[in-house]
Amino acid sequence: MTPRTIAIDGPAGAGKSTIGALVAERLGYLFLDTGAMYRAVTLAAQRRGIDPDDGPTLTKLAREVRVNIGPPTVRDGRAYTVLLDGEDVTWAIREPEIDRIVSQVARVPYVRDAMVEQQRALAERGRLVMVGRDIGTVVLPKADLKVFLTASAAERAKRREEELRARGQVRPRQELLQEILRRDRLDSERAVAPLRAADDAIIVQTDGLSVGQALERVFAVLTRADAREGPAPHGGQASRS
Ligand code: C5P
Repeated sequence: MTPRTIAIDGPAGAGKSTIGALVAERLGYLFLDTGAMYRAVTLAAQRRGIDPDDGPTLTKLAREVRVNIGPPTVRDGRAYTVLLDGEDVTWAIREPEIDRIVSQVARVPYVRDAMVEQQRALAERGRLVMVGRDIGTVVLPKADLKVFLTASAAERAKRREEELRARGQVRPRQELLQEILRRDRLDSERAVAPLRAADDAIIVQTDGLSVGQALERVFAVLTRADAREGPAPHGGQASRS
């Protein structure tokens, strides 16, 4: 049976959103990029002038704001539309200022609780691909298939630079690398739900691979999971790159 719930985790810039959206599209599954949810709360905080280290105020904010992620409403290259209290913030959440502070907001435990609750509610609806940092470990520990998509920091900075350039933004690669390393550190060292591969995740290394090649690697993993009877074996972390 094709896995019904697919968790894709990994560090910033590993290609999770691109690959996750393509996997979901090919399978006809729902797609949820959980990073967009943390970004939307971060944008709300930034607009209200809330300090990204002010846990209690962020906690209150996470209870108040409404974040919705749905199918694309505009044909401008987006994979989905993000609404913050009804406003389309799909591109606003991709601004450098959000990249810079999102990991501080995402480490506040109640902000996470509020997001995880919504993520799990969505997973109840059935077949889906969910991408993030803690999907296989915390949000959906019983996901049918867990993939940990990763690449070296240098490769991720290079991709980020190219992605931004395609959107008409020029940023020095060195600066993007520093930002990625900082985000990796904050995401992996936080106390609640740190970035890490679940014990039963299959690690897919994507250095030097095109999007198409990385996608085929993930599908190869999926096909193997498909051929298997019953749940994925636990503790069998296989690095099959
Ligand atoms: O995936 P993306 O880079 O858009 O995620 C932005 C930030 O949101 C991450 O750096 C991380 O701090 C946070 N995040 C998280 N848990 C998730 C998804 C994203 O903490 N499941």
